[in-house]
Amino acid sequence: MVKLKNVTKVFKGFSALKNVSFEVKKGEFLSFVGPSGAGKSTLLKILAQLETPDEGTLEYAQAHTRENPVILVFQDFRLFPHLTVFDNVAFGLRARRLKGQEIKKRVNPLLGRLGIEALGKAYPARLSGGEKQRVALARALVLNPLLLLLDEPFANLDPNLKAGTAEFIRNLTRELGTTVVCVTHDFDEAFLMSQRIGILLEGSLVQLDTPRGIFTNPSSLEAAEFLGPVNLVQADESIALGGAQQISSSPWVRAEGLRFVCDPKGEAIVRELRFYGTRIILLVEKEHKIWTVSSLNQDHREGDRGHLYLRRSIYENK
Ligand code: ADP
Repeated sequence: MVKLKNVTKVFKGFSALKNVSFEVKKGEFLSFVGPSGAGKSTLLKILAQLETPDEGTLEYAQAHTRENPVILVFQDFRLFPHLTVFDNVAFGLRARRLKGQEIKKRVNPLLGRLGIEALGKAYPARLSGGEKQRVALARALVLNPLLLLLDEPFANLDPNLKAGTAEFIRNLTRELGTTVVCVTHDFDEAFLMSQRIGILLEGSLVQLDTPRGIFTNPSSLEAAEFLGPVNLVQADESIALGGAQQISSSPWVRAEGLRFVCDPKGEAIVRELRFYGTRIILLVEKEHKIWTVSSLNQDHREGDRGHLYLRRSIYENK
């Protein structure tokens, strides 16, 4: 539906995007993740045609028109403060000269679907961050966008709202068949929402794959490290890790790919615990090397002895 080919964007000698190519399929939800400064906003602006590539091409398979526009939802939502929620959502339809009845017929069901029908007469100033975001989404979706662009949709939400919002946005856009490109540094939420994920590092698209592919089959050490702790492994260490299997061709293993099993006679020692909500990161010393191990077992203690094993698959939960 949209194709970027070898796109490069340079600001004052600095390459914000380097030779980026990908295609967005109709109806898909595609997210780009990457640290601050990776080029995410620049990529979104190029898709929105607010910036033009210095090299390469952007091609839309279908012309975007007033009836099927490309819409960018900004992270600060940019609602019109002097208009009610209803009028904010109706704004684009009025600009397209639709009749009052027709406008109501399109706006009201959408407000209902987004759970904000009771706020129709409210002004943006009294809305919570989550409510403002729903209004901004409704204002975009009411126009049947050919492509919906979301810029950091979680940046202005409380952390406890993020996961629920990601599910909500995914379900809503799937139901409506909307094609979405999202850029975010919240990769947990990107994983929840997206059919495919692109990793941008320093302006380069280093991988574009399904969430499972990104996690299980990273294209490089840098791509792997972006998603969490990674252990570098020497060729002879795979045996020392005790598993019957060799470490695959890859010279590293994720924290989730290792398992620590308590045994007072074990040669490995837990040196440090880091709590991340439901999971723990263990720093385990074995033969003068520290390994980073992810665990769901909350009972581990500093000083515990045990064995380190390599999981056959990072999904294997034994
Ligand atoms: P991200 O959204 O991933 O944080 P950006 O796309 O905003 O990254 O920026 C990528 C790089 O390009 C940054 O180093 C930024 O300073 C630079 N940049 C972006 N826009 C401009 C601009 N209009 N002028 C100069 N430099 C810019």
